[in-house]
Amino acid sequence: MPRKIAAGNWKMNGTTASLAELFAIAAAHQDPKVDILICPPATLLARITDAGAIALGGQDCHVNTTGAHTGDISAVMLADAGATFCLTGHSERRTDHGEDNATVAAKSLAAHAAGLTAVICIGETLAEREAGETLAVLSAQIAGSVPAEATAQNTVIAYEPVWAIGTGLVPSTDQIAEAHAHIRAELSDKDIPLLYGGSVKASNAAEIFAVPNVDGALVGGASLRAADFSPIITALENA
Ligand code: PEP
Repeated sequence: MPRKIAAGNWKMNGTTASLAELFAIAAAHQDPKVDILICPPATLLARITDAGAIALGGQDCHVNTTGAHTGDISAVMLADAGATFCLTGHSERRTDHGEDNATVAAKSLAAHAAGLTAVICIGETLAEREAGETLAVLSAQIAGSVPAEATAQNTVIAYEPVWAIGTGLVPSTDQIAEAHAHIRAELSDKDIPLLYGGSVKASNAAEIFAVPNVDGALVGGASLRAADFSPIITALENA
């Protein structure tokens, strides 16, 4: 059985005051039955010395370890700052920074080399779904972005339909089930955890976690406040 993971992606949100939310989540889940991950902005990541049972992750890493890459952060630096995970290939990176599958694979390998678990994000756009291309897109993204040496120890896959991220739109449970079954089949030789991401909130978490092959969630907006994220963690514990 893949391990269950409740992951929060704070994106470009959070200043010093936001650390209180992270500590509130840690206080509410001191002995969690699932893995909890929060990916704060790097400015906060480096300042957290004790996150309790919460694992910390970066939101992106450079493919190189060091070098003349102004504004970038390497996986080694994230590990040095206390991260044990790193998101790669989030749709906002793919869209805003033109990251293709090969870049995502290289970043995932860089994360692995630094001892980080790569949370590799894949998902179709609305146009691709409406064209009936969802499963083909997922196959291409898996083939191109997931390194051959990925294992259940160093990799997590997050299925995030682009049209569901930050929109309040959520696929039907049948659509989630179809996508996750497809991803599981593509990675059948590995017991990699599969997370669903896209407008997960306390009110829909239990229904999503009941879908076969859903091992947790990657949560954006609803991970910013303990009052919103904590019930999602609890829903996963009870799934
Ligand atoms: C995300 O950023 O990965 C995400 C799923 O965001 P939201 O939960 O806000 O849709």
